[in-house]
Amino acid sequence: TDLSALILDRIRDVPDYPKPGVLFKDISPLLADHAAFAAVVDEVAGWHPADKIVGIEARGFILAAPVAYRAGAGFVPVRKKGKLPSETLEESYDLEYGSATIEVHRDAFNQGDRVLIVDDVLATGGTAEATVELVRRAGAEVVGVAMLMELAFLKGRERLTGVDLRSLVIV
Ligand code: IMP
Repeated sequence: TDLSALILDRIRDVPDYPKPGVLFKDISPLLADHAAFAAVVDEVAGWHPADKIVGIEARGFILAAPVAYRAGAGFVPVRKKGKLPSETLEESYDLEYGSATIEVHRDAFNQGDRVLIVDDVLATGGTAEATVELVRRAGAEVVGVAMLMELAFLKGRERLTGVDLRSLVIV
């Protein structure tokens, strides 16, 4: 589609970041383009009716906050361990080397809230899978996971079976 082509054109490949051998997808050019950024926000905000939009630290925050505003929903941050001030639920997942832990506030949702999770890039799917788990444990319903870009060769989609996953661009 036109939107997919626009997004693809505004995402920059950065070789060897954050370490040698990794080709990093940098969404900065898209964010800096008002028309492209607005089109993305409108598209995601119109996808599923939701009570809360969850953004995953850190680039997920940038996308999810305007989506929440546009959708008339609340915004909830999922953060790396140790950043949220009040009582949290946490979920750990494996990385290529080591592991990561993310958190959400225990009281972030009302029971049965419809939640849309938003992030920039789906890679191995570990982060998104752990976020789905956190939202469910906190008593809310995941109605969808929206990604700007999905790196299909890493098969992250396979870790999200049973979840309505939509990526605006799949490479
Ligand atoms: P995953 O858990 O392997 O799917 O990695 C996804 C998380 O890492 C997301 O929060 C992304 O923001 C980040 N990430 C992984 N690869 C990239 C990339 O190429 N560009 C931007 N973010 C990335």
